[in-house]
Amino acid sequence: MSEFKLLLGTRNPGKVKEAKRILSSLNSNLKILSFQDRDFPEVEETGETYLENSLKKAREISNHTGLPVVSDDSGLEVAALNGAPGPRSSRFAGPDSSDEENLNLLLDKLKDVRNRRARFVTIATLYISPEERYVSRGVLEGRIIHEPKGGSGFGYDPVFVPEGYDETLAELGEEEKNRISHRKKALEKMKSEIRGILRDRNR
Ligand code: IMP
Repeated sequence: MSEFKLLLGTRNPGKVKEAKRILSSLNSNLKILSFQDRDFPEVEETGETYLENSLKKAREISNHTGLPVVSDDSGLEVAALNGAPGPRSSRFAGPDSSDEENLNLLLDKLKDVRNRRARFVTIATLYISPEERYVSRGVLEGRIIHEPKGGSGFGYDPVFVPEGYDETLAELGEEEKNRISHRKKALEKMKSEIRGILRDRNR
């Protein structure tokens, strides 16, 4: 059986750890590589959709390294803001805005708004060649509270309470978040896809 190399298309050590943990139970012919094994440049997120951004990252890194690449792109969608900030979540308050500035802008826009419904969305893309690309989606439903709470996580975690919980993602902590997150769901679906790819290749 031939080895299948898969490169994780992110320079974020937290994402690498999470993806390795999820994908490591796959077939032993799969070798998972990260930026620590193969260097690649940062890819700018210029697209208007998660799909454009995740595909752009995966394709450019694959073209650079010659390896199959999985990348993802995520964002927060707030019902009362018609789905904003969405793919612009990291740039909500401006091109170089911090997590805190983005979060404060969000709370400001929702100050007198009663509908607090929101969700996190992730689109993951596996790029093998122009003809062989796979896409998966993960969603975490929840609501936005009025004041930040909790010290773990990043981004909008301190104001997002997942459905079925009373605490924010920043209060729940990394382990519980990684069990229920949008990224986890997208990666679990991608894992099934990869299992099928490995099976087909070894026929
Ligand atoms: P990325 O595509 O995973 O880098 O996410 C883009 C932006 O969406 C981040 O900079 C955050 O503002 C927001 N975001 C995505 N996932 C999360 C999350 O799990 N918690 C909090 N914010 C998130």
